[in-house]
Amino acid sequence: MKMTNLLDLSPLKFVNYCKELGEMPFRAKQLQKWIHKFGVSDFNKMTDLSMSLRKKLKNSVYIKAPHIMSDQISFDGTRKWIFHVKKNIIETVFIPEKNRNTLCISTQVGCAINCIFCSTGRQGFVRNLTVGEIIGQLWVTEFKLRREKNIKINSQGKRQITNIVMMGMGEPLLNYKSTIGALKLILSDHAYGLSRRHVILSTSGIIPMIDKLAQECPVELAVSLHASNNNLRNKLVPISKKYPLKELILACHRYITYSPRHMITFEYCMLHGINDTDIHAIELISLMRKNKILTSCKINLIPFNCFPNSNLICSKNSRIKIFAKILMNSGIFVTIRKIRGNDINAACGQLSGKIL
Ligand code: SAH
Ligand code: SF4
Repeated sequence: MKMTNLLDLSPLKFVNYCKELGEMPFRAKQLQKWIHKFGVSDFNKMTDLSMSLRKKLKNSVYIKAPHIMSDQISFDGTRKWIFHVKKNIIETVFIPEKNRNTLCISTQVGCAINCIFCSTGRQGFVRNLTVGEIIGQLWVTEFKLRREKNIKINSQGKRQITNIVMMGMGEPLLNYKSTIGALKLILSDHAYGLSRRHVILSTSGIIPMIDKLAQECPVELAVSLHASNNNLRNKLVPISKKYPLKELILACHRYITYSPRHMITFEYCMLHGINDTDIHAIELISLMRKNKILTSCKINLIPFNCFPNSNLICSKNSRIKIFAKILMNSGIFVTIRKIRGNDINAACGQLSGKIL
């Protein structure tokens, strides 16, 4: 019998697996709880499972999580873990704040989209991560943080990670199946039980998959826009040639319509002299207004994080503020992202899978 890594199982696959073992469906929930709610990987400690099931498990499954290679903490508390996954390395970033703790997870090794301002894109695409490698980043860090704080493993309500952003390395919607499997675990009451509001998936704009996500797992959506017109976007985010800006905005509109309480976040990386003039801001307002999305979106201005040989410069602070003001005056909700973890290369777009 082929051995199965339990971390690779989505909630549905837990049920199917238990069926295969000749067990009742409720066993799937129990097993899922032991692993993802309590972080227990020793079958002997799964006390509400029958002895015969524990024996079957010992013979047919194993638990293999990503292995921590490096653990760095920034002066601002941001923590970056580098994980070994098979022959590759990926990065995961923990951002503690007063009212929430966010984990930024990776979905691919490298990325095929190759946005000009992104260090992950420079690496090119290496491979998709499995469900176990995606959820494993949360599994390892959540229970590591609990242990560090001496929180009893099975105590309820002591969750360390309260928010998830799929904004690490890779394009989550180009690794759709594994990303959905991991998201279902993140949302499952028998696993991490996070609310949809606390889970954000960020995409460069893979239109057919945005529609699929709306139907299968409508979490919060962030779209990497970065440009106010199609020509400019084609240069900054090359996938735009396949999925043009106009159609992308329409897909965002459908996403909100599908689940009316949603608000789309547009990410906009501020690049000096490239996309940061008053004209770009005005063009952006007209794009939002024309597509009737102006009041149901938020624009998150991200100061460009530099990396070696990028040949790009971040807009000046004063420019970012003026840009934000123009947008705000039109009624758009705008935020300016604080740079976190810059000293350990944990900021957006600095994740390159290198150990410092
Ligand atoms: N591939 C997905 C998610 C990962 S990138 C996406 O593109 O949305 C996460 C965010 O970081 C995106 O908004 C991306 O545009 C932004 N980003 C990438 N490189 C950056 C850089 N050097 N400086 C600032 N933001 C960057
Ligand atoms: Fe890929 Fe996102 Fe980086 Fe673009 S910004 S190269 S889509 S990871």
